Amino acid sequence: MRVLLFEDHSRLANSIVKGLAGLGFGVDAFATARDGLNAFKTIAYDAIVLDLGLPDRDGLEVVQDLRKASSCAPILILTARDGIDDRVSGLDAGADDYVVKPFAMTELAARLRALLRRPGRALGGVLAIGNLQLQTVSRQVMVDGKSVHFSVREVQALELLMRREGQIVAKSNLEDSLYGLGKNVSPNSIEVLISRLRRRLGSIGASCSIHTLYGIGYLLKDETP
Ligand code: CA
Repeated sequence: MRVLLFEDHSRLANSIVKGLAGLGFGVDAFATARDGLNAFKTIAYDAIVLDLGLPDRDGLEVVQDLRKASSCAPILILTARDGIDDRVSGLDAGADDYVVKPFAMTELAARLRALLRRPGRALGGVLAIGNLQLQTVSRQVMVDGKSVHFSVREVQALELLMRREGQIVAKSNLEDSLYGLGKNVSPNSIEVLISRLRRRLGSIGASCSIHTLYGIGYLLKDETP
């Protein structure tokens, strides 16, 4: 689950990154609207957390920009305790929910999960290809109805590939989604992860397989006879 965070208060941003990481979210934090919007163009985020008081642009304009783009990622705005007008205008501009500062990390995470569970959103139920199933909430993988253990990263990679079944997922996209934007990932870590995942899928008898398009990316294909 990848979250885009706009927050210019660096201490708060750090504690959100750490707090949400402990609860299973990967967070990319940006202190300006410009940097956050650039990241938004590159990565398919599952959710957006936006501080309305950013240094370079009005937060409401940012909400409108995000909504104009063809993303269905929910937007959760962070507002000051006395900012009732902000909350109303934020929701009017297209935000899905708000959290009032100061807040507990568990509350922020709970609100995010609630938004992500809405139909069509990232936590919306079960992904299935052939005899392979992934429960997006419990992160459980099943083959022919039997539960199979995969590592956290393997499940993340599998989810990304399953969501785009039959389409090419760029290697850089996997890197960014799994390890965070601009992180120093060893060049072959995705290759190692994918080859492990491919072997596992084969050994458990999953009726789908991962194809490599050299220099481009990967594609998960339903091989059900
Ligand atoms: Ca601020």
